[in-house]
Amino acid sequence: MRGELISGKGLEKIESPRYIIFGPNALGRTAEILHSLGLTGTAVVVSGSSVTAVVAKDLIDMLEGDMKVYHVVARQGGIEDVLQVIKEAEERNADFLIGVGGGKPLDVTKLAAAKLGVRYAVVPTSASHDGIASPAVNFSLSKQAETRFGGIRGMEAPTAVVADTRVINRAPPETFKSGFGDLVAKFTAVRDWELAHKLKDEPYSEYAASMSLLSAKIATDHASEIKSGLEESTRILVKALIGSGVAISIAGSSRPASGSEHMFSHALDAIAAKEGVKPAPHGIQVALGTIMMAYLQGQDWKWIREKLREAGVPTTAEEAGLRPDLVVKALTVAHRIRDRYTILGVTGLTPTAAEKLARATGVIR
Ligand SMILES: [Zn+2]
Repeated sequence: MRGELISGKGLEKIESPRYIIFGPNALGRTAEILHSLGLTGTAVVVSGSSVTAVVAKDLIDMLEGDMKVYHVVARQGGIEDVLQVIKEAEERNADFLIGVGGGKPLDVTKLAAAKLGVRYAVVPTSASHDGIASPAVNFSLSKQAETRFGGIRGMEAPTAVVADTRVINRAPPETFKSGFGDLVAKFTAVRDWELAHKLKDEPYSEYAASMSLLSAKIATDHASEIKSGLEESTRILVKALIGSGVAISIAGSSRPASGSEHMFSHALDAIAAKEGVKPAPHGIQVALGTIMMAYLQGQDWKWIREKLREAGVPTTAEEAGLRPDLVVKALTVAHRIRDRYTILGVTGLTPTAAEKLARATGVIR
């Protein structure tokens, strides 16, 4: 991964987005931005299948005439979509890619761009997670990429981020709650990172850690103002999520943004898939994880829970629509989900300890 801390040699490389524009009608400025960054010629636009496809079509209308633009709809957001984008881009001799969507189409774009060795821009259509401006892709896709390509190298941050707050305002209320949850997670993620640095001598960047915590602080300072459809809420969330993404770019790893609370959420996703039940949105699961991991870390978990409540984010399994037994199960296997040292340690929680934790924090009753 680009931006990796090259430990031992004293060399660090920082890869971050070159151009970030956000605000109402930012979309209308895309052609101008792409031009100024030398992103010209032929582009492949990658979007989701429903609402994001409409935004993509608007964008294509604006860009056509100026450049050649082709459209790929990433239906599943999985590795097959990545391969389809690569094929289309190779056939069309594309110079760069543009990802339009909430999460998955952006991740598909990132991975395809890395494989093709081309640059890319992103147009986020919701403020639901911090992958907007980071070089990292979601956990499930990175696992698939490992199996398919034997790892992912050359992942870069987007060259341009065009966040149109008018577009993002129209996203469902749940996406705002999820974005807020993903930001609060930085409190536990950074604590886990510090722990791994002290106990396992993992490379640590104070700058990336501070920046990540700052993103969480910006969100919690405005917790009660986070409401969907408000220009100001969108602005705060987008700004903080981009900040978190840049912290990931600086660290060259998702470490500053993702610790035990994310491992809990990934475990829950895996268990839900096995059980054939629907998981909750990423940031909402992560929010529950943050409350519980903060408790384990000896942080002020009640304050974190209060901030989540102020922002209208679910703080119990019931509110999140999750089965309590699956929450407990996820807690017992979260430490095994990836090779990342956290407060969960090497052996994780026993079933009894997991249940006690979930009850003590009020996540289950
Ligand atoms: Zn996240």
